[in-house]
Amino acid sequence: MTEKKNIKSIGLVSGGLDSVLAAKLMVDQGIHVIGLHIITPFMGSYSEERAGETLIDRQARAVGFDLRRLYPGEEYIEIIKNPRWGYGSCMNPCIDCHIYFLQRAKEVMEEEGAQFVFTGEVLEQRPKSQKRNLLRMVEKRSGLEGYLLRPLTAHRLEPTIPEKLEWVERERLLNLAGRNRKPQIALAEKLGIREYQTPAGGCLLTEPNFSRRLKDLFDHGVWDIDSIQMLKVGRHFRLGPHTKLVTGRNENDNCVLANLALETDALLEAEGGGSPLSILRGETTEEMIRLAAAITRRFSRAKGEPTAVVRIHIGRSGETREILPDMIDETVFEQLRVV
Ligand code: SF4
Repeated sequence: MTEKKNIKSIGLVSGGLDSVLAAKLMVDQGIHVIGLHIITPFMGSYSEERAGETLIDRQARAVGFDLRRLYPGEEYIEIIKNPRWGYGSCMNPCIDCHIYFLQRAKEVMEEEGAQFVFTGEVLEQRPKSQKRNLLRMVEKRSGLEGYLLRPLTAHRLEPTIPEKLEWVERERLLNLAGRNRKPQIALAEKLGIREYQTPAGGCLLTEPNFSRRLKDLFDHGVWDIDSIQMLKVGRHFRLGPHTKLVTGRNENDNCVLANLALETDALLEAEGGGSPLSILRGETTEEMIRLAAAITRRFSRAKGEPTAVVRIHIGRSGETREILPDMIDETVFEQLRVV
């Protein structure tokens, strides 16, 4: 058997239970594990991951693996926009996404001089994307044929090259399958793994509301990362093919929106306090500005006061002025809403 200390592997780690268990099984076999954490702009934790230590850092320390973070760029957004294998129940093209993750893992494997890649996948845990034939297909498409190990479900699959060459002891791998997660939870307890994310893993592409907002963005030809981050907060209104209004729902939303504002955006706030911060982005006409002001006031404490003005600050010009908008018609309001 090859010396285990010479065996290096790349594990796709998400912060979820399955991937941390898979990493633990590898580490316990004396294999050097580099956890590859791919953080897409569609993850709820995208900003936190950029800001500092998160759950995945603590998992890496507790289990004993190295960690690499990877932020996909516009090529990933293109895949989400035009998936070859289509979407799941929302805007989640899980098959395409999975192939992309594995392709990136293969690149990291080559860069790091590692011998194989592993994941925390379990056969038929997700009925659509984890069927036997799909597991085989994504493995082939990723270019990892034979070099992709799924430690949690290995006994249900053909032995991989790492097993055949005895880099990994197959008998110490598992035979999990299906949606029942009790065996993983029991194993985590036994192995002392206490901290992990819920199964959804925080991917907003599986959420109906977020998906509707994203579809609206794509339908109007926008897919930059800042605009995607803005979909995670506030209430959204489509004022024109190239114009969006987002109003904060609370203090936190207002702070996030203020941070995401571009020089070209217009910022609106109703006078008298208790107002959301609104961002008007894109091509704007005077009519749209008045509409944006009316919507902003509708969510402020001055909601029912037709004399309450709204202050607008136009980013690029530095111009600040006050507007007295008309009361907004509720039918128009509902039509503009992106929900
Ligand atoms: S849930 Fe999201 S991150 Fe996970 S495979 Fe599907 S699209 Fe990709």
